[in-house]
Amino acid sequence: MEDARGLLKQYFGFDDFREGQKPLIDAVLDGRDVLGIMPTGAGKSLCFQIPALMMPGITLVVSPLISLMKDQVGALNQAGIHAAFLNSSLSMGQYRKALDLAREGRYKIIYVAPERLETEGFLRFALSPGVDISFLAVDEAHCVSQWGQDFRPSYLKILSFLEKLPRRPVLGAYTATATVEVKEDVLDILNLRDPLVVTTGFDRANLFFGVKKPRDKYRELESYLREKEEKMPGSSGIVYCLSRKSVEEVCYQLREAGFSVTRYHAGLSDTERRENQDDFIYDRRQIMVATNAFGMGIDKPDVRFVIHYNMPKNMESYYQEAGRAGRDGEPAECILYFGAADQRTNRFLIEHGEDNQELDEETRRIVMEKDLGRLKQMTFYCATSGCLRHYILDYFGEESSAECRNCSNCLEEFDLLDVTEQAEAVVRCIEGCQRSFGVNLIVDVLRGADNQKIRQRGLEENPEYKALPDMTVPRLKQLINEMMMQGFLNLSNDDYPVIELTDRSEELLSGEKLVIKVPKREEKQAPKARKKKAGAASALEEKDMGLFEELRKLRMEIAKEEKIPPYMVFSDKTL
Ligand code: ADP
Ligand code: MG
Repeated sequence: MEDARGLLKQYFGFDDFREGQKPLIDAVLDGRDVLGIMPTGAGKSLCFQIPALMMPGITLVVSPLISLMKDQVGALNQAGIHAAFLNSSLSMGQYRKALDLAREGRYKIIYVAPERLETEGFLRFALSPGVDISFLAVDEAHCVSQWGQDFRPSYLKILSFLEKLPRRPVLGAYTATATVEVKEDVLDILNLRDPLVVTTGFDRANLFFGVKKPRDKYRELESYLREKEEKMPGSSGIVYCLSRKSVEEVCYQLREAGFSVTRYHAGLSDTERRENQDDFIYDRRQIMVATNAFGMGIDKPDVRFVIHYNMPKNMESYYQEAGRAGRDGEPAECILYFGAADQRTNRFLIEHGEDNQELDEETRRIVMEKDLGRLKQMTFYCATSGCLRHYILDYFGEESSAECRNCSNCLEEFDLLDVTEQAEAVVRCIEGCQRSFGVNLIVDVLRGADNQKIRQRGLEENPEYKALPDMTVPRLKQLINEMMMQGFLNLSNDDYPVIELTDRSEELLSGEKLVIKVPKREEKQAPKARKKKAGAASALEEKDMGLFEELRKLRMEIAKEEKIPPYMVFSDKTL
């Protein structure tokens, strides 16, 4: 009788299990349901593939993406394991043939798209006499949850499919999403019975995390890549951009500058995508510039850096994408370039994107609110002066006491600045306004700017007008951000977000302290920054307001160029 470790060596060539794998495998073999929550790259596939080899009957693996199924089945076949996939990439004839072979018991593991489960042909197979389904593994199980980043209504069919089977198989669910809501949803919706829940650490100690706010992102990127090339020639990395258009631009510029680059986005043909992907994986090209369409299911262990040219829409996406760096355990860098437009663009995508079309209006509204909330958390990651690693682990609900010393904020030397008095002024200033305003206008009032916007609204009458004339715009914004992060203020979810007081605002007026971290190097530059006129903040606001219009134009332009309807431009399918 083969044991799990023997199979690990024989088929996969590994000597030892990684954290979490053994208990998850053993539980399934004992007939117990499981939920495995492990970060990307931790090795979830083996947790269902190894028991699949040891169970008496067939294992079904539900998986959301055709490319994932193809890659995994390909790898299994190469390892000498009989596996197949059933999805819409097969012709009718191929599909029938595969089902016939499956019925004859030719496959130990069958990957199936969730929408296939309840089709007549598949049900007929699953209910045939002699077909014994011993184990059903749900990969990327967060897809059952509307709180997850990629909800798939077809995942909801899993339960009713199970109910049709003569004997309920053991059920395993696997995901990298660890938020409480998603976890509860997976347990409830899949109706796991007394499951063993294993959550492994989300910390990836070999990854360096950094946030930069470059004036010129492209310049920053180019100089980063030059430095990398000097220090570690030949290292591979991914540059993630938010749109196809910027992928094209960045890739073109880097190529012109002499770098070994390729690109990936949903606008390329299947063949070109496959070629470019292989060029990157097999080190024929060093740098991959891509949208978030690139990466799921791709296993390149020696990615040395992942640069985000734009801020993604939430921490789940960020950690998943950044987590593609350093899978081999060697040091690697994950750096995010944050720009003022990033938040606006993401808001636009959340509010006007064509996601969640299949949901009813009420649900769609709830999902959108949730998405905006997550965008806020993502923005705080870019704004925080605290430890980035701790921020990530906190977000995923993990206790983090270990020292980091490996993120841009921990390496930065800070002075601590007590800003309690200034924070009080902010609260009183907001109290003193007749209605709610955005960040920039509040900043203008506090600094005592003398412009039309202020006068039109009579804001020079605010008791806190010119209360903080010496604070620079960035420092005041940092203060307001910090107050939002700590819940002393709230930013509304409107098209033009305004600052609101919260239940906690009063606490600041009654003795609560507020301290912010100020980078030492920045202090040295401060006198220069102070020379700027107080009008700068409103200029920025006007720019922000123009962005909505800009995006609309951009959308029309891209639509025309790519000959697709405008509503497709910013949908996930085209990004
Ligand atoms: P996940 O689905 O959790 O993102 P995968 O199952 O795709 O991760 O595995 C990621 C990588 O880790 C793969 O290259 C896999 O071969 C490797 N791996 C998995 N388990 C082990 C192990 N016990 N020892 C060494 N490598 C492993
Ligand atoms: Mg996986």
